[in-house]
Amino acid sequence: MKTPFLLLLACLSLAPVARPQSEATPLVDSVPMAHALPGTISHYWLRIGQDTQGRPESVPVILVRGVKPGPVLGVVAATHGNELNGIRVIQELAATLDPKNLSGTVLAVPGMNPGGIARHQREHPDGTDLNRAFPGKGNGNRSQQTAYTLTTALLPHLDYLADLHTASFGRENTLYLRADLAHDTLARVAVSFGADIVLNSKEASAGTQTGGTFRAAAAARGIPGFTVELGDPQVFQPDMIRRGAAGLLQAMRILDMLPGVLEEAPQPIVCIRSYWIYTDQGGMLEVLAPLGERLTQGEPIAVLRDPFGREIRRYTAPQAGVVIGRSTNPAAENGARILHLGIEAPGDQP
Ligand SMILES: [Zn+2]
Repeated sequence: MKTPFLLLLACLSLAPVARPQSEATPLVDSVPMAHALPGTISHYWLRIGQDTQGRPESVPVILVRGVKPGPVLGVVAATHGNELNGIRVIQELAATLDPKNLSGTVLAVPGMNPGGIARHQREHPDGTDLNRAFPGKGNGNRSQQTAYTLTTALLPHLDYLADLHTASFGRENTLYLRADLAHDTLARVAVSFGADIVLNSKEASAGTQTGGTFRAAAAARGIPGFTVELGDPQVFQPDMIRRGAAGLLQAMRILDMLPGVLEEAPQPIVCIRSYWIYTDQGGMLEVLAPLGERLTQGEPIAVLRDPFGREIRRYTAPQAGVVIGRSTNPAAENGARILHLGIEAPGDQP
C-alpha cells in the first residue's frame, strides 16, 4: 500500500501549479481602449521592444474604465528604473478605484522602464536617461525607440498626465509636485494634492537633439501634465505611497472623474523657481539643512571636510528659500549636489 501512496505524492508534486495571473495577461502592440468595456479593470502587457533572443520586452498597463464618460488620465511611474514608490502608488490607486463610480478612464503604466527596474538603475538599459529621450525616434537607438513606442502607444489616448518620480540615488526629496501653474486646472490639482511643496515648472520642451521628458512630450501635444516626486529611490515608503494615491484621488475629483468633495489638504509651500547648490571642492559632505525647512539667507546648509575631519568649507544659503531635496551621499567631488533650493517670492534674488 505504501508504493501507490508515494506514487500519488510524486504525481501531486509534478502537477502543474496554477499559472500566475501575469502569464494570462494579453500581450498587445497598442492599448485596446475601444475593447475595454465600461465598468471594467483590464491588465495588459504592452510590447515596447525585443531582447537579444527576440523575446518581447513589455510594460504593464492597467486600464480602469469608468461607467460614465469623462477624461482619460494617464498615470506613469518608474521611467527612471530605480524610482519605485510610484509603482506602488498606481497599484494602490487601481485597488481603490471602483469603475462604477468613475467618469472617464485611468490608463496607468506602473513601470515605464522595465530594463532599468530589473537592473536597479535609473537609466534605460542602453545607459541613457529615458526621460530625456521623449518623444523618441522610430528608427533611432534603443532608448529612442522605446521612447517612441511609449509616446505613440500612450499619449494619443490621454487628456491629462501624472508622471511619478522620486529622488535619484544619493538624494532624498520632500513630496513635491511640478506643474505649469498658469494652467488653471493644474494649479488646482497642485495645491489640493497634499504635496509639501509645489514648484511652478513649464518643463523643458522636447525636441532637442537628445529629446525631453515624457511630460514635455505630452505638453507638446496639448496634454496638460504634472510630475510628482515621491521621496527616495529604490524603496517603497508607505507614507509617500499613501499620500501619492490620495493625491491622485484628489486630482481625479478636480478633473470630475470622481464624485465627492475635495478633502482638506495642508497648503503646500509654492515656489516660483528652484535651483541646485553644488560643492566647489571635493571632500566628505555633511548637509545640515533638513528637508522641507525654510532657510534664511546666510544660514549654514552644509560642511565639507577632508579625510582627516578638518573642515574645508562651510556652505550657506545664498538667499532665502525652502529645501526641496538634498544630498544623502557624503562622498563629494567638486560639483556634487548639496541641496535643491526652492524660491517662493518673485522679488527674492540672491
Ligand atoms: Zn525621476
